[in-house]
Amino acid sequence: MDLIDYHIHPGYSLDATGSIEAFCQEALKKGLKEICFTTHFDTDPLRKKIDPFMIVDGRQVPLEEGLPKYFREVKETQRRYEEMGLLVRLGLEVDYAPHFEEQLRQTLSGIKVDFLLGSIHCLEGVAFTDRREYERCFQRKSVREMSRRYFENLAALVKSDLFDCVAHLDGYKKYGFTYYGEKIFTAHRDYIEPVLELMRADDLGIEVNTGSLRRGFRDLYPSAEILKLVRDFGVKVVALGSDAHRPEEVGYEIKRAVDSLAHLGLDLSLPATVVAERG
Ligand SMILES: [Zn+2]
Ligand SMILES: [Zn+2]
Repeated sequence: MDLIDYHIHPGYSLDATGSIEAFCQEALKKGLKEICFTTHFDTDPLRKKIDPFMIVDGRQVPLEEGLPKYFREVKETQRRYEEMGLLVRLGLEVDYAPHFEEQLRQTLSGIKVDFLLGSIHCLEGVAFTDRREYERCFQRKSVREMSRRYFENLAALVKSDLFDCVAHLDGYKKYGFTYYGEKIFTAHRDYIEPVLELMRADDLGIEVNTGSLRRGFRDLYPSAEILKLVRDFGVKVVALGSDAHRPEEVGYEIKRAVDSLAHLGLDLSLPATVVAERG
Protein backbone atom coordinates (compact mmCIF):
# COMPACT_ATOMS: atom_id res chain seq x y z
CA MET A 1 0.00 0.00 0.00
CA ASP A 2 1.47 3.37 -1.04
CA LEU A 3 1.85 5.96 1.67
CA ILE A 4 -0.61 8.76 1.15
CA ASP A 5 -1.86 11.64 3.25
CA TYR A 6 -5.24 13.01 2.29
CA HIS A 7 -5.89 15.37 5.19
CA ILE A 8 -3.52 18.33 5.34
CA HIS A 9 -4.07 21.89 6.54
CA PRO A 10 -1.60 24.37 5.05
CA GLY A 11 -1.20 27.88 6.45
CA TYR A 12 -4.34 28.99 4.62
CA SER A 13 -6.30 27.37 7.47
CA LEU A 14 -6.81 29.65 10.47
CA ASP A 15 -5.36 27.05 12.84
CA ALA A 16 -2.37 25.93 10.72
CA THR A 17 1.08 27.17 9.73
CA GLY A 18 3.44 26.44 6.84
CA SER A 19 3.47 27.04 3.09
CA ILE A 20 2.15 24.59 0.50
CA GLU A 21 5.76 24.23 -0.64
CA ALA A 22 6.99 23.34 2.86
CA PHE A 23 4.34 20.61 3.21
CA CYS A 24 5.28 19.15 -0.20
CA GLN A 25 8.99 19.13 0.64
CA GLU A 26 8.26 17.29 3.86
CA ALA A 27 6.05 14.78 2.03
CA LEU A 28 8.85 14.04 -0.45
CA LYS A 29 11.35 13.68 2.35
CA LYS A 30 9.09 11.13 4.05
CA GLY A 31 8.58 9.13 0.86
CA LEU A 32 4.86 9.80 0.48
CA LYS A 33 3.47 9.09 -2.99
CA GLU A 34 0.40 11.26 -2.84
CA ILE A 35 -0.96 14.08 -0.69
CA CYS A 36 -4.13 16.12 -0.67
CA PHE A 37 -4.48 19.60 0.78
CA THR A 38 -7.74 20.03 2.64
CA THR A 39 -7.94 23.52 4.04
CA HIS A 40 -10.94 24.22 6.26
CA PHE A 41 -14.14 25.29 4.55
CA ASP A 42 -16.41 26.23 7.44
CA THR A 43 -19.58 28.04 6.48
CA ASP A 44 -22.05 27.39 9.31
CA PRO A 45 -24.12 30.59 9.44
CA LEU A 46 -24.30 30.27 13.25
CA ARG A 47 -20.52 30.77 13.23
CA LYS A 48 -20.20 33.51 10.67
CA LYS A 49 -18.08 35.70 12.94
CA ILE A 50 -15.68 32.86 13.85
CA ASP A 51 -15.16 30.49 10.94
CA PRO A 52 -15.60 31.49 7.31
CA PHE A 53 -12.13 32.91 6.82
CA MET A 54 -8.71 31.91 5.64
CA ILE A 55 -5.20 33.35 5.80
CA VAL A 56 -3.72 34.73 2.59
CA ASP A 57 -0.33 36.46 2.67
CA GLY A 58 -0.56 36.84 6.44
CA ARG A 59 -3.96 38.47 6.29
CA GLN A 60 -7.31 37.04 7.38
CA VAL A 61 -9.78 37.25 4.50
CA PRO A 62 -13.27 35.83 3.85
CA LEU A 63 -13.20 32.26 2.46
CA GLU A 64 -14.60 33.25 -0.92
CA GLU A 65 -11.88 35.85 -1.30
CA GLY A 66 -9.03 33.49 -0.36
CA LEU A 67 -10.09 30.32 -2.17
CA PRO A 68 -9.00 31.29 -5.72
CA LYS A 69 -5.45 31.91 -4.48
CA TYR A 70 -5.44 28.57 -2.62
CA PHE A 71 -6.71 26.73 -5.70
CA ARG A 72 -4.13 28.39 -7.94
CA GLU A 73 -1.24 27.68 -5.64
CA VAL A 74 -2.11 24.01 -5.14
CA LYS A 75 -2.59 23.48 -8.89
CA GLU A 76 0.67 25.18 -9.71
CA THR A 77 2.43 23.03 -7.12
CA GLN A 78 0.75 19.94 -8.54
CA ARG A 79 2.51 20.44 -11.87
CA ARG A 80 5.95 20.93 -10.37
CA TYR A 81 5.81 18.05 -7.92
CA GLU A 82 4.41 15.46 -10.29
CA GLU A 83 7.83 15.36 -11.99
CA MET A 84 9.44 14.79 -8.63
CA GLY A 85 7.23 11.77 -7.95
CA LEU A 86 4.67 13.31 -5.65
CA LEU A 87 1.02 13.55 -6.65
CA VAL A 88 -0.56 16.65 -5.14
CA ARG A 89 -4.33 16.87 -4.90
CA LEU A 90 -6.63 19.78 -4.28
CA GLY A 91 -9.26 19.32 -1.62
CA LEU A 92 -11.26 20.92 1.14
CA GLU A 93 -12.35 19.80 4.58
CA VAL A 94 -15.94 20.94 4.70
CA ASP A 95 -17.80 21.37 7.97
CA TYR A 96 -21.35 20.04 7.78
CA ALA A 97 -24.56 20.33 9.77
CA PRO A 98 -28.11 19.80 8.49
CA HIS A 99 -29.29 23.34 9.25
CA PHE A 100 -27.18 24.81 6.43
CA GLU A 101 -27.17 21.93 3.98
CA GLU A 102 -29.01 23.73 1.20
CA GLN A 103 -26.78 26.77 1.39
CA LEU A 104 -23.72 24.49 1.38
CA ARG A 105 -25.02 22.59 -1.64
CA GLN A 106 -25.27 25.86 -3.52
CA THR A 107 -21.78 26.99 -2.55
CA LEU A 108 -20.17 23.64 -3.33
CA SER A 109 -21.88 23.41 -6.72
CA GLY A 110 -19.61 26.27 -7.83
CA ILE A 111 -16.42 24.64 -6.59
CA LYS A 112 -14.37 22.03 -8.38
CA VAL A 113 -11.76 20.13 -6.40
CA ASP A 114 -10.38 16.58 -6.41
CA PHE A 115 -11.59 15.62 -2.98
CA LEU A 116 -14.19 16.83 -0.48
CA LEU A 117 -13.80 15.65 3.06
CA GLY A 118 -17.05 15.93 5.03
CA SER A 119 -16.68 16.66 8.74
CA ILE A 120 -18.84 17.31 11.74
CA HIS A 121 -17.11 19.62 14.19
CA CYS A 122 -20.11 21.28 15.84
CA LEU A 123 -23.46 20.62 17.43
CA GLU A 124 -25.91 23.53 17.22
CA GLY A 125 -23.11 25.77 16.05
CA VAL A 126 -20.78 25.07 19.00
CA ALA A 127 -17.51 23.28 18.19
CA PHE A 128 -16.75 20.19 20.25
CA THR A 129 -13.39 19.96 18.47
CA ASP A 130 -12.29 23.35 19.79
CA ARG A 131 -10.46 23.69 23.09
CA ARG A 132 -12.30 26.95 23.84
CA GLU A 133 -15.78 25.65 23.06
CA TYR A 134 -16.08 21.95 23.86
CA GLU A 135 -17.32 22.45 27.42
CA ARG A 136 -20.09 24.70 26.23
CA CYS A 137 -20.97 22.14 23.57
CA PHE A 138 -21.08 19.16 25.94
CA GLN A 139 -22.64 20.81 28.99
CA ARG A 140 -26.16 19.62 29.77
CA LYS A 141 -25.73 16.71 27.35
CA SER A 142 -25.19 13.21 28.61
CA VAL A 143 -22.63 11.27 26.61
CA ARG A 144 -25.56 9.35 25.16
CA GLU A 145 -27.40 12.47 24.10
CA MET A 146 -24.24 13.93 22.55
CA SER A 147 -23.64 10.73 20.62
CA ARG A 148 -27.26 10.48 19.47
CA ARG A 149 -27.08 14.00 18.03
CA TYR A 150 -23.69 13.48 16.44
CA PHE A 151 -24.78 10.34 14.60
CA GLU A 152 -28.06 11.96 13.61
CA ASN A 153 -26.07 14.72 11.91
CA LEU A 154 -23.70 12.17 10.41
CA ALA A 155 -26.65 10.31 8.87
CA ALA A 156 -27.75 13.60 7.29
CA LEU A 157 -24.20 14.19 6.03
CA VAL A 158 -24.25 10.80 4.31
CA LYS A 159 -27.68 11.38 2.78
CA SER A 160 -26.66 14.83 1.53
CA ASP A 161 -24.43 13.15 -1.05
CA LEU A 162 -22.12 16.16 -1.00
CA PHE A 163 -18.86 14.47 -0.02
CA ASP A 164 -16.23 11.97 -1.15
CA CYS A 165 -15.34 10.83 2.34
CA VAL A 166 -16.30 11.07 6.02
CA ALA A 167 -13.50 12.56 8.12
CA HIS A 168 -12.52 11.45 11.65
CA LEU A 169 -15.63 9.36 12.33
CA ASP A 170 -15.25 9.48 16.11
CA GLY A 171 -13.62 12.92 16.23
CA TYR A 172 -15.85 13.76 19.19
CA LYS A 173 -13.48 11.78 21.37
CA LYS A 174 -10.80 14.49 21.03
CA TYR A 175 -12.26 16.50 23.92
CA GLY A 176 -15.06 14.05 24.70
CA PHE A 177 -12.55 11.98 26.63
CA THR A 178 -11.50 15.02 28.68
CA TYR A 179 -15.14 15.80 29.42
CA TYR A 180 -16.87 12.40 29.73
CA GLY A 181 -13.94 10.07 30.46
CA GLU A 182 -13.80 6.43 29.30
CA LYS A 183 -17.52 6.38 28.46
CA ILE A 184 -16.69 8.23 25.28
CA PHE A 185 -15.06 5.13 23.79
CA THR A 186 -18.35 3.22 23.71
CA ALA A 187 -20.63 6.20 23.00
CA HIS A 188 -21.15 5.08 19.38
CA ARG A 189 -22.60 1.68 20.23
CA ASP A 190 -26.30 2.51 20.17
CA TYR A 191 -26.20 4.79 17.16
CA ILE A 192 -23.49 3.95 14.66
CA GLU A 193 -24.85 0.87 12.91
CA PRO A 194 -27.70 2.49 10.95
CA VAL A 195 -25.27 5.16 9.79
CA LEU A 196 -22.76 2.56 8.59
CA GLU A 197 -25.58 0.86 6.75
CA LEU A 198 -26.40 4.16 5.02
CA MET A 199 -22.76 4.65 4.13
CA ARG A 200 -22.50 1.23 2.59
CA ALA A 201 -25.71 1.75 0.62
CA ASP A 202 -24.55 5.18 -0.61
CA ASP A 203 -20.99 3.98 -1.18
CA LEU A 204 -19.54 6.72 0.99
CA GLY A 205 -16.25 5.75 2.64
CA ILE A 206 -14.29 6.96 5.60
CA GLU A 207 -10.81 8.31 6.22
CA VAL A 208 -8.53 6.77 8.81
CA ASN A 209 -6.99 9.72 10.64
CA THR A 210 -3.83 9.57 12.74
CA GLY A 211 -4.42 12.90 14.50
CA SER A 212 -5.69 11.01 17.54
CA LEU A 213 -2.22 9.54 18.12
CA ARG A 214 -0.77 13.04 18.38
CA ARG A 215 -3.30 13.72 21.10
CA GLY A 216 -2.18 10.74 23.15
CA PHE A 217 -4.90 8.24 22.20
CA ARG A 218 -3.83 4.67 21.61
CA ASP A 219 -6.33 4.26 18.81
CA LEU A 220 -6.82 6.03 15.50
CA TYR A 221 -9.85 8.03 14.44
CA PRO A 222 -11.89 5.88 14.31
CA SER A 223 -11.05 3.38 17.02
CA ALA A 224 -10.31 -0.28 16.31
CA GLU A 225 -13.78 -1.21 17.60
CA ILE A 226 -15.38 1.10 15.03
CA LEU A 227 -13.00 -0.01 12.27
CA LYS A 228 -14.15 -3.59 12.81
CA LEU A 229 -17.75 -2.46 12.36
CA VAL A 230 -16.71 -0.51 9.26
CA ARG A 231 -15.24 -3.73 7.87
CA ASP A 232 -18.21 -5.89 8.85
CA PHE A 233 -20.70 -3.45 7.34
CA GLY A 234 -18.76 -3.30 4.08
CA VAL A 235 -17.95 0.40 4.33
CA LYS A 236 -14.77 1.38 2.46
CA VAL A 237 -11.72 3.16 3.77
CA VAL A 238 -11.05 5.71 1.04
CA ALA A 239 -8.35 7.87 2.61
CA LEU A 240 -5.59 8.02 5.17
CA GLY A 241 -4.88 11.37 6.76
CA SER A 242 -2.58 12.91 9.33
CA ASP A 243 -4.68 16.07 9.82
CA ALA A 244 -1.33 17.87 9.72
CA HIS A 245 -1.44 21.52 10.75
CA ARG A 246 2.35 22.00 10.46
CA PRO A 247 4.73 20.68 7.77
CA GLU A 248 6.51 18.32 10.18
CA GLU A 249 3.19 16.57 10.85
CA VAL A 250 2.70 15.46 7.24
CA GLY A 251 2.53 11.70 6.98
CA TYR A 252 2.48 11.37 10.76
CA GLU A 253 2.10 7.67 11.69
CA ILE A 254 0.56 6.88 8.30
CA LYS A 255 2.61 3.70 8.20
CA ARG A 256 1.01 2.65 11.45
CA ALA A 257 -2.45 3.35 10.01
CA VAL A 258 -1.59 1.15 7.02
CA ASP A 259 -0.49 -1.63 9.36
CA SER A 260 -3.66 -1.32 11.46
CA LEU A 261 -5.80 -1.62 8.35
CA ALA A 262 -3.90 -4.69 7.18
CA HIS A 263 -4.23 -6.20 10.63
CA LEU A 264 -8.00 -5.72 10.54
CA GLY A 265 -8.28 -7.07 7.00
CA LEU A 266 -9.29 -3.69 5.57
CA ASP A 267 -8.11 -2.31 2.22
CA LEU A 268 -7.64 1.25 1.13
CA SER A 269 -9.56 2.19 -2.00
CA LEU A 270 -9.28 5.79 -3.13
CA PRO A 271 -12.62 7.42 -3.94
CA ALA A 272 -13.93 6.83 -7.45
CA THR A 273 -13.73 10.52 -8.36
CA VAL A 274 -10.00 10.65 -7.65
CA VAL A 275 -9.25 7.39 -9.45
CA ALA A 276 -11.18 8.56 -12.52
CA GLU A 277 -9.10 11.72 -12.66
CA ARG A 278 -5.88 9.76 -12.58
CA GLY A 279 -7.01 8.31 -15.93
ZN1 LIG B 1 -11.71 18.08 11.13
ZN1 LIG C 1 -8.70 18.65 9.60
